[in-house]
Amino acid sequence: FLPHLVASMKQVDETYIMIKPDGVQRGLVGEIISRFERKGFKLTGLKLFQCPKELAEEHYKDLSSKPFFPSLIEYITSGPVVCMAWEGVGIVPSARKLIGATNPLQAEPGTIRGDLAVQTGRNVVHGSDSPENGKREIDLWFNEGEVIQWTPAQAPWFRE
Ligand code: GDP
Ligand code: MG
Repeated sequence: FLPHLVASMKQVDETYIMIKPDGVQRGLVGEIISRFERKGFKLTGLKLFQCPKELAEEHYKDLSSKPFFPSLIEYITSGPVVCMAWEGVGIVPSARKLIGATNPLQAEPGTIRGDLAVQTGRNVVHGSDSPENGKREIDLWFNEGEVIQWTPAQAPWFRE
């Protein structure tokens, strides 16, 4: 029963990744999606979307008391974003590592923000900070039927 127990510990989580308006405007959509694809995570939802103010406020509600909140909402609603749902074992902390620190000047080279951005207010990408928020944010940004369950042909080449 030990392998079974180990298998049940390998819980598949979901995370909400979003290319912010600067990433779309700068033509970084393919570059950013590629990093998650090549890593071996599974894309389950994808759309280009113009975010209404109310949705941006709901998404970032925990930051509503911060002085930068109005400029954050203006930034996120300033042009189209690319909304993505991704799935994988350990994906939430791993995606945060791929993205890098909130302040791109502190983000390690090799991370998305470390390689592609210079300022916190233009840090090109969002990633959920916990599995609970991953679920919450995917439910918030996607409508029913927009998140697809499927099996990638390459799956056995990523996980034994
Ligand atoms: P994240 O999880 O790494 O994206 O960082 P947070 O959850 O702390 O903040 C959410 C987003 O708010 C960040 O990605 C930035 O776009 C923005 N933000 C956070 N702190 C600041 C700040 O001090 N100034 C500005 N202008 N934006 C900020
Ligand atoms: Mg955050």
